[in-house]
Amino acid sequence: MRAVPSLTHSASHSSQSFQQKSATALENSTLRAALGKAGAGFLNARKKAFEQIENSANIKARAQQARARAIDNMPELLLQFERNAHAKGVHVHWAETAEQARAIIINLCRGKKRIIKGKSMASEEIELNQALLKSGAEVTETDLGEYIIQLANETPSHIIAPAVHKTRAQIDALFRYHHENIHEAKIADNNPKPQRKSSQLIEEARQKIRDKFLQAEVGITGANMLIASRGAALLLTNEGNGDLSAIMPQRHIMLAGIEKVIADDADAVAVLRVLGRSATGQSLGNYTSLYGAQPLQADGKDLHFVLLDNGRSEMHSSLWRDMLRCIRCGACLNHCPVYTSVGGHTYGWVYSGPMGKVLTPLLAEASRKTSAQELPHASSFCGRCVEVCPVGIPLTSLMRRLRERDFEKPLRPQSLKAKFACATMRLLFAHPKLYRLFLACFLRILKLLARGKGHISYLPTATAWTSTRDLPINRSARAAISQ
Ligand code: SF4
Repeated sequence: MRAVPSLTHSASHSSQSFQQKSATALENSTLRAALGKAGAGFLNARKKAFEQIENSANIKARAQQARARAIDNMPELLLQFERNAHAKGVHVHWAETAEQARAIIINLCRGKKRIIKGKSMASEEIELNQALLKSGAEVTETDLGEYIIQLANETPSHIIAPAVHKTRAQIDALFRYHHENIHEAKIADNNPKPQRKSSQLIEEARQKIRDKFLQAEVGITGANMLIASRGAALLLTNEGNGDLSAIMPQRHIMLAGIEKVIADDADAVAVLRVLGRSATGQSLGNYTSLYGAQPLQADGKDLHFVLLDNGRSEMHSSLWRDMLRCIRCGACLNHCPVYTSVGGHTYGWVYSGPMGKVLTPLLAEASRKTSAQELPHASSFCGRCVEVCPVGIPLTSLMRRLRERDFEKPLRPQSLKAKFACATMRLLFAHPKLYRLFLACFLRILKLLARGKGHISYLPTATAWTSTRDLPINRSARAAISQ
């Protein structure tokens, strides 16, 4: 598929820091407008959904219990899931790394060209589309949001609403370019057309994707839960595209992180009761389906579960184990003042917002060997994410632990300025008299710069500090010096 260069907001900025990407995002008024509109919708819908039920605290406590039980018994439950799936003739594949998962799926797609996909964050995590395209297959995303970002050659900016950062006008232009071969510039200059309604855009996408369903040889979807007692996977969607992706082709591949395991139906229902409400304000998603049953094989079709580790086992035995309870509802993103200001692409990977600030450093380190050390620091620690998380994940505590871990690592300054500053501090801390003399001189300079105001707005060589706030002069340190 072609990308419209002027419409993309993709990983082209991936080498930039979170701070640099945030600054760019904050200046993007179109992005701010799209995020603001969608964000308000999510907040109101979730609030109403929980207000309408009497015992929401009990419902959340039950879901939390179900997820805690699943993670506490994860190894045993996964083996039980595998045994029960095998007993029904379903194939189970274990992928320790992203690379292994890609290889398994490419092997299962060998000789088959037309592939359709339902929304799957695990597939984004392992960069499956790129690998399939490279192998010569044709891949079509069938979830509307995923379809839009596939056309735009972007990554998702939200775990449940991948194209939340796009305005209707942008989507209209994108469809005109891909469906009618009209470039964005021509829409404005030579071929003006009234901007279409959302329903018209949805209908157009539906028409385009329909043929893909009919021709597909393989369907790839994610899974919301892996029910151990059944050996079956539960899939929750709102558009029905997940089920069409599963049922229409001869082969169905379900890719899921191993933490998606859940003990039994009762625990799965406990999670379902909070998932829809937390995500979109629905008591239940429009389509809830179980896959793992015999009739699929009776039609000559087959079903494969690909269970992805990719750093999760390591998390299971670490201080960040609670993060595995996440049900990917997106509530923490929608309530985060940082996420709702800068959007998901700023976080540089598939998981964004507060959950991404914990998951990305842990999973990205394991799978991509890259560091996302700065993310846990990009938080106001207001705690709204903890309040709204339906499974009680202590996100701020987990971020704090990640910060502590980073502070324990030896400091390796990169720039000349940082190297000089570190060497100076080392010298001063090793010589108390010199330190006191330095402090006395420094405070004198600060006093001169403050001109009696008690704070300064400009500090040469440390302008990053004073560009966003004033620097108060530390009275207690001054008093200590003058003693
Ligand atoms: S951390 Fe909690 S609120 Fe955030 S996506 Fe996961 S389950 Fe939802």
